[in-house]
Amino acid sequence: MAKFPEKGRNSEELLSTMKEFQTNDLKWREGKNGSFVYFAGDDVLNVVSSAYLQYFLTNGLSPLSFPSIKKMEADVISMASSLLNGNDDVVGNMTSGGTESIFMSLKTARDRARDLYPEIKEPNIVVPTSIHPAFDKSCHYLGIKIIKVPVAQDFRSDLEGMKNAVNENTILMSASAPNYPHGVIDQIEDLASFAKSKNILFHVDACLGGFLLPFVKKIGYDIPKFDFSIDGVTSMSADVHKYGFGPRGTSVVLYKNADIRKYQYFVSTDWSGGLYGSPTFAGSRAGAAIAGAWAVINYLGVEGYMKKAEIIMKTARKFIDGINSIEGLEVLGKPDASIFSFHSKEFDTYMIGQEMSKKEWSLDNLQLPPGLHLMVTPAHENVVEKFLEDLKEVVNDLRKNPREPEGMAAMYGAMASLPDPSMVVPFVQNFLDSLTQPE
Ligand SMILES: *Cc1c(COP(=O)(O)O)cnc(C)c1O
Repeated sequence: MAKFPEKGRNSEELLSTMKEFQTNDLKWREGKNGSFVYFAGDDVLNVVSSAYLQYFLTNGLSPLSFPSIKKMEADVISMASSLLNGNDDVVGNMTSGGTESIFMSLKTARDRARDLYPEIKEPNIVVPTSIHPAFDKSCHYLGIKIIKVPVAQDFRSDLEGMKNAVNENTILMSASAPNYPHGVIDQIEDLASFAKSKNILFHVDACLGGFLLPFVKKIGYDIPKFDFSIDGVTSMSADVHKYGFGPRGTSVVLYKNADIRKYQYFVSTDWSGGLYGSPTFAGSRAGAAIAGAWAVINYLGVEGYMKKAEIIMKTARKFIDGINSIEGLEVLGKPDASIFSFHSKEFDTYMIGQEMSKKEWSLDNLQLPPGLHLMVTPAHENVVEKFLEDLKEVVNDLRKNPREPEGMAAMYGAMASLPDPSMVVPFVQNFLDSLTQPE
């Protein structure tokens, strides 16, 4: 059990100890990861980390004290807006990540409804079941009801189902471009037009796609409209720390205009510490994260991101075609870009993930239906063949020597047979407890 240290330690020894801590961490540099880290090469990493270090102790809470941070944040917002076809009315803020961006857009919708439609006492939002849990989490905090409509056979939002779910208390609809589980883009244009006709806000969750899809489109792939080029879109979230390759802790939330965005703000006027106005959830904010985001966008530019998109898309096609050509395996749906998942009708899908993890490949488990998930980054370019080789071996081996699921594979298997998935809540709570238990 760690006690607060009496004496300080030598910095070299300290840092080398911390290096050892990392031995069993995710192997993202080698492209062994299915998610969590978006590594675009050492040159990108060096620029981002140098910018981050240069602004290490700055605080984005006080733009007056740091005009440099203020400038870079404003730049990142307008660069993101121009990438996503926003006009001059579009405004936004940087946040710590997709969850905070989504939280702010829902808080904005809630407070706007309170102001403009006081007759709505129990506001709700309508989303597809594939929407990221950040929406459930935000609704949980904000006292908004979340109405989730099952996705269609192709894992996209069910247009008619979504329309039918809207009622007089609906304040916002949302869908993803693309969604996290299966990497497909929802019918943003149809849904947003419908929302507009009902005078409902429409949020596009482009946390994954915001800094990816525009470039995938530019290199010639068929990508449907998903951004401010659609009239009914009133807000968007796009993560710089995903396919923008920015430092962890960077996302953008954008609004169609300042009239909507004003409901996002928090202002306190009676604190003895002075006037306190805050645009987003965080108080103090890492100026370094903003600097890192500014640096990476300017380092790569449209040209650089297009080159990355070429690599990502070619590699993703290799994964998808390769997996589909292995007997017993199948990619789920038709992924629009480089995020996909696959399953097996022949084996317990989770067993494949379990056996792959023994070969150091780290794939996330999906459920409803079972699947294994991978988001392709430039780091995967040189390992896709090896991945497919290992996958073939795992499948052949499981066919010859069937065995029992362990650990997570066993848990997901058990969960599938529960009458109510919420029965696992106490288990997950215990797991979360265990994470902060002293070693
Ligand atoms: C990652 C993600 C989020 C949440 O973003 P965080 O940065 O993890 O908070 C929301 N929506 C989608 C589609 C995502 O992929």
